Amino acid sequence: MTEGHDVNDRARQLVEAAAQLFEAGVMSHSGHANLSARLDADRFLLTPGFVRGLRPEQLATVGLDGQLLAGELRSVSAEIITMHSLVYRARPEVGAIIHTHSPSATAFAVAHRPLPCRTEPMLRFGQPEEVPVVPWGPRGSDVSVRGIAKVLEERATTSAVLLANHGLLVFGPDSAATAHLVVAIEESAEAEIAAAAIGGAVDFPEGALAAVRASIARVSA
Ligand SMILES: [Zn+2]
Repeated sequence: MTEGHDVNDRARQLVEAAAQLFEAGVMSHSGHANLSARLDADRFLLTPGFVRGLRPEQLATVGLDGQLLAGELRSVSAEIITMHSLVYRARPEVGAIIHTHSPSATAFAVAHRPLPCRTEPMLRFGQPEEVPVVPWGPRGSDVSVRGIAKVLEERATTSAVLLANHGLLVFGPDSAATAHLVVAIEESAEAEIAAAAIGGAVDFPEGALAAVRASIARVSA
C-alpha cells in the first residue's frame, strides 16, 4: 500500500467516525468536537476546527512537534494541537483521538466526578475502569496540558479522561474504535445519571473488571 492510499484511508475513516458521532446523538448542541488520526511516528491528521459536513480533503496534517505541515486550521484548532500531540507522545499505541462535549459525560466533567465503569459497553469497548477527571486549565494552556500528561502517567491503562468544566477526551487504536468508545462512555454517563433517580448505579460484581482487563490483555498480547 502506498503512503497516499494510507493517508486517504485514515482521512476517510476519521470523517466517517465524525459522522458516526452525530448519528449516535452524542454531540452537544454546538456540534463542537475535534478528532485526529495518527499517520506515523511524527504526524497526525486533525479536523480543521469544525466537524459538521467535514470532507477528508479538509483535514490538516500536523507534526507531533505542533507544526502545521499541510492544510489549514482555524485559529481555535491551533490551541488544541498540543492536547492531541501529547496523547500521541505519551501513548505510542494510540491511533486516534476524539474530543467532544457529549452532554452526559460533560455533566460528570462539570461535577468533577470520575465516571465509574458500571455498564457492559464501557466494559467491553475499551474502558474497563473509571474515567478520571483532569483538573481544569484554559484549553491548550500549559496547566491543562500538564494536567492531562500527569493523569495519563498515573492511569497507564485509561483510554479516556474527563476534562474538568469542559468535556471528554478519548483515545484508541483507530478512529472507529475510538468513536465507539465515545458512544459507550456517553451512554454510561447517561445511565449513571438516570440511575441516580431510582437509587443509584451499582458496581459490577467483585473481580469482573479485573477479569475483563486480563482477557483484553491476553487478546492484545
Ligand atoms: Zn472542547
